[in-house]
Amino acid sequence: MDLGLQGKIALVTGGTSGIGLAAADLLLGEGARVAICGRDAGRLAAAQAHLRARHEQGDLLAATCDVLDRDAVARLQAQVQGWAGGLDLLVNNAGQGRVSTFASTSDADWRAELELKFFSQINTINLFLPMLQQSSSASVVAVNSLLAYQPETHMVATSAARAGVQSLVKSLAREFAPKIRVNSILLGIVASGQWERRYAKEAAPGQSYEAWIEAEAVNRAIPLKRFGQPAEAARAILFLGSPAASFITGASLEVSGGASRHI
Ligand code: NDP
Repeated sequence: MDLGLQGKIALVTGGTSGIGLAAADLLLGEGARVAICGRDAGRLAAAQAHLRARHEQGDLLAATCDVLDRDAVARLQAQVQGWAGGLDLLVNNAGQGRVSTFASTSDADWRAELELKFFSQINTINLFLPMLQQSSSASVVAVNSLLAYQPETHMVATSAARAGVQSLVKSLAREFAPKIRVNSILLGIVASGQWERRYAKEAAPGQSYEAWIEAEAVNRAIPLKRFGQPAEAARAILFLGSPAASFITGASLEVSGGASRHI
């Protein structure tokens, strides 16, 4: 199946690691022109080098940007406009989860988490909307989590915020139709930067990353008995964001190895 991404212009926020980096890689492989952003200049340079090595002819823009800083997103918008003159696909991927129960979540933590989950969507959508409106195949993909429907007590703030993002996706899909499609992916557990950080904190002394991941997958009773790989999440992002999904909007695609229990 041809996804129809050849020559399309895509922005992947948080494109310097994990799922975002895998999405940028696949998009370049499909012949799309790709912009990535992240906050850390070192990680950005490493991602840029990685992608350039894999796609010598690829058209890539790499820019530092904190998506929670509206002025920085405005600067990114100007950079993308100058580089490509438009945008067809916005992948709102930047972010991370917060491990905390209600008892261990302070008011400041709640505010930070709600700001991260909402404004990592709102700032980019606001600033890139005029460009998307000019596209003949505009779409937004929100990278979201199964926690939206299946909250976990140890991730109480993230779960609540994720549910709100699902509501936002549904509203925007209706408000922006028929011009711009808006969909989300619902992730279970995907082995990426944030899990490497948790491994560093939580693993038993001497336990390898692979052994720790395998034990976590068993503990969490994931039916496919493993964590997902970034490329497996990225493939779902590409499909929903591509012209091949032209009649799909307001939808969510679960990428969880069967971990969901809701119908
Ligand atoms: P990674 O930590 O590997 O990647 C996160 C990316 O987001 C990095 O490029 C990071 O770069 C960037 N980022 C974080 N905050 C900001 C910010 N404020 N502005 C710009 N860039 C930012 O994690 P994943 O690939 O796993 O995560 C991708 C998305 O998927 C996240 O939103 C995450 O919450 C979500 N998700 C992941 C799950 C999983 O199991 N992996 C499960 C459910 C959801 P830098 O730090 O340099 O800014």
